[in-house]
Amino acid sequence: MRDMRLLLLSTVCIVSFAQNKPAADDKGFTDTPMLPGLPFHVHDPARPHPPVVTPGAQPGGAPSDAIVLFNGSDFSKWSAAKLGNGVTLAASAPTWKLENGFMEVVPGKGDIATKEKFGDVQLHIEWAAPSEVRGNSQSRGNSGVFLQGRYEVQVLDSFDNITYADGQAGAVYGQWPPLANAARKPGEWQTYDILFEAPKFEGEKLVKPAYLTVIFNGVVVQNHREAMGPTVYRAVAKYVPQPAEDSLALQNHGNPVRYRNIWIRRLN
Ligand code: MG
Repeated sequence: MRDMRLLLLSTVCIVSFAQNKPAADDKGFTDTPMLPGLPFHVHDPARPHPPVVTPGAQPGGAPSDAIVLFNGSDFSKWSAAKLGNGVTLAASAPTWKLENGFMEVVPGKGDIATKEKFGDVQLHIEWAAPSEVRGNSQSRGNSGVFLQGRYEVQVLDSFDNITYADGQAGAVYGQWPPLANAARKPGEWQTYDILFEAPKFEGEKLVKPAYLTVIFNGVVVQNHREAMGPTVYRAVAKYVPQPAEDSLALQNHGNPVRYRNIWIRRLN
């Protein structure tokens, strides 16, 4: 009886292995059904292959096709800028502090923004709130990552620091609180990985809103969130026609927040 069971079990294993085993020249099939709405068969050999992208050497490192916006050495990709009704680039370079592989907000020295403009992107950025805790609520480690100079993912020291939920770290400011408070302690480096889909307009008409996905220190805090419009303070956001591409901006909110390892990939 036991032998029979063993025989049966090994037969089942052999049969199921054979079914999953690829053929020797398994590069695709054209005798399979068509995928709905697509000009390709299931496993179509003619379907274009994606480009090869070499990942960063370390976790968080820039992959081979990323635009490195800041690697700790210079502000060459950035300009001084002013946020509000979008972003206005100044002709001058940022005057934030630059040292030991990071940049630091200097109170009174304005916002900064990239010279290059972007639409849909994947963004990696690392930041640290000041290790010396000063102030509370919105006055503690406040800065912000402004996609297209308009849509703020809030940067704030949210470690044991109560503020309004739609203003804490990882919030789409004034609209959506983060799904979790994943903040590290003041002074520790933290990561945002952001997927941003730019809004689309046809003339004056909004045909697709902006969407944000935010991963904060490895924790999903915004999951394909629809933005109500560009970030505003104490008001309801609403869309107004804007350029398809615009600069990434970092906010100066008067607190010496640090940034490092900033890279971006265009998504099309
Ligand atoms: Mg802010």
